Amino acid sequence: MSKPLLIFDMDGVLVDVTESYRETIARTVAHFAGIEVTREQIQEYKNQGGWNDDWQLSHHIIERAGVEVPFARVKGHFQKLFLGDGSDGMILRERWIALPGVLEKLNERFRFALFTGRPRADAELTLARFAGGLVFDPVVGMYEIANHKPAPDGLLQILHGETGGQAYYIGDTVDDARCARSAKVPFIGIAAPSNPLYLDLVFLFQAESAYAIVDDINYLSEVFAA
Ligand SMILES: [Mg+2]
Repeated sequence: MSKPLLIFDMDGVLVDVTESYRETIARTVAHFAGIEVTREQIQEYKNQGGWNDDWQLSHHIIERAGVEVPFARVKGHFQKLFLGDGSDGMILRERWIALPGVLEKLNERFRFALFTGRPRADAELTLARFAGGLVFDPVVGMYEIANHKPAPDGLLQILHGETGGQAYYIGDTVDDARCARSAKVPFIGIAAPSNPLYLDLVFLFQAESAYAIVDDINYLSEVFAA
């Protein structure tokens, strides 16, 4: 029988995005609406569910501030800030969370896959930068599926073709937990104590019947220690 499968979300799980994606949301909102949005406010939206897409979320916050601007312009500005010209984008502020050897060790017992709300190309840029020789197969991004999280499509697509081996989904938002629940995949929640709404997030994961909740992926092996 093949090794069980760990399906990772990327942002907030493999990669710390507080200085990349969340900073890009704040700067995009400031650019169009001239207001400051705090990390706590961003986390409140994430906890509400339905705001997995940072382009949509930026656009929504700008509109709520009373500024009408087409979605495509918001997305364009966001991507320009995020990707930059290759030497100055916010993507370069990402931090790989796994300590050296942690994922390599897990990979002896588990296969890895990735299901992210990012475009797959953006996810692969980050994997190429940080993941060393680790294989994530498949990588499913936002354009590979019809319905986004919390819909189960991405997980179901990954599990299709699996032959009954155990799989787990590891995510950092309530949408990830709901996605796992609808796909009937045990969910491992990442709740970083540095998160501005840490306890709320833990309770949300518990309410979604999380299989386990850990501070970050460096503690994953403890979940499977028994
Ligand atoms: Mg995430």
